[in-house]
Amino acid sequence: MTNTREQQLEKLRNRIDSARDDLVELTRALIAFPTINPPGVGYREICDFLATRLSARGFAIDLVRAEGALGDSDQYPRWNIIARHEGRQKGECVHFNSHTDIVDTGDGWTVDPFAGEVKDGRVYGRGACDMKGGLAASIIAAEAFIDVFPDYSGAVEISGTCDEESGGFGGVAYLAEKGWFDPQRVQHVIIPEPLNKDRICLGHRGVLWTEVETYGHIAHGSMPFLGDCAVRHMGAVVAAMEENLFPALAKKRTSMPVVPDGAKQSTMNINSIHGGLPEPQEGYTGLPTPLVPDRCKMVLDRRFLMEESIDDVRDEIKAVLDSVAGERATFRYEMRDLFSVLPTMTERDAPVVGAVADAIRQEIGCEADFVVSPGTYDQKHIDRIGKLKNCIAYGPGILDLAHQPDEYVGIDDMIDSARVMANSLAALLTHG
Ligand SMILES: [Zn+2]
Repeated sequence: MTNTREQQLEKLRNRIDSARDDLVELTRALIAFPTINPPGVGYREICDFLATRLSARGFAIDLVRAEGALGDSDQYPRWNIIARHEGRQKGECVHFNSHTDIVDTGDGWTVDPFAGEVKDGRVYGRGACDMKGGLAASIIAAEAFIDVFPDYSGAVEISGTCDEESGGFGGVAYLAEKGWFDPQRVQHVIIPEPLNKDRICLGHRGVLWTEVETYGHIAHGSMPFLGDCAVRHMGAVVAAMEENLFPALAKKRTSMPVVPDGAKQSTMNINSIHGGLPEPQEGYTGLPTPLVPDRCKMVLDRRFLMEESIDDVRDEIKAVLDSVAGERATFRYEMRDLFSVLPTMTERDAPVVGAVADAIRQEIGCEADFVVSPGTYDQKHIDRIGKLKNCIAYGPGILDLAHQPDEYVGIDDMIDSARVMANSLAALLTHG
């Protein structure tokens, strides 16, 4: 590396450090938009705010409504923003994708979740960590990079997309379907989710949501022998899972570097079981009526590994159901897929991984930790619909704080990760 190069990187660092107040105010301004999902509100307003900021810095703005996508309606329109800054020469495009939606605040807050209170070097608020702090850091990084390297080649894009917390269908999935993540126009994607400033998240495990329904025969509750209880059939299914399936899943280990440790194996959650009459409406003070339930539904949330195929995952559950059918004469069931995502993991030698790992070494002074997320995020759509493999999650904040009361992001962490993002831009879009 030449001396001038080192000087330029130092200039970049200083430019970010001097933007500290701007970074804090930007984070607070983003937190002030109560973009709670569901139902998904304030999307247009936060996009307009980002458009004003980024167009003033020379970005071309596209506002895209996901018309007809799951969740989009005139009452709750799904708005997204894509801002693109062109360098002076042709080259590759680095894209930062952040979701603008947040989950509901819930109880237990000691600060106003939308005031962006600053104390002890932290900015507090719903979405501070997941992931408005990451969005703000990427904007500061991009602006600093453009200032210090005005002659760069290629393009920098920043998107603010909706609905990540509810599957991303009105956000990244829609944009990917419309070609916004076509590898012809975008070559590197960084998603600033809160994974800690020294960790690179390569991907996530797979997921299969499936619904199992057992059937019985309705009868008066005083003569259950005249009926057939669907809940007892489901009880037999759960017992068989306890006996065979859960222990088998615990034995399956993955070579994927999933965090936390407990997620380095296959897991399954029984998300819900509903049998019999629906729960009475609130305010109803009467008793239930005596009925043998003729239906019982269970929703399963199965998380699987690169080493497993989705067909095997489905067959395993089916095998349990068939074994129960062999033991219970009147057992009948149906199994329906609700939703599935294949596991994805970007290769460690992918260009964006190398650039960010080098930047972490130079800016933070440690080796990057490579991790895989236990749950999915928008990378699934970029990979599967967009067919773009050169994608990671990297951003400030502590994952465990996401969705919690008194969520916060550390200001030093945002500065450090903004330095890493800017350094990565320099590595990918300039010739050192
Ligand atoms: Zn998030």
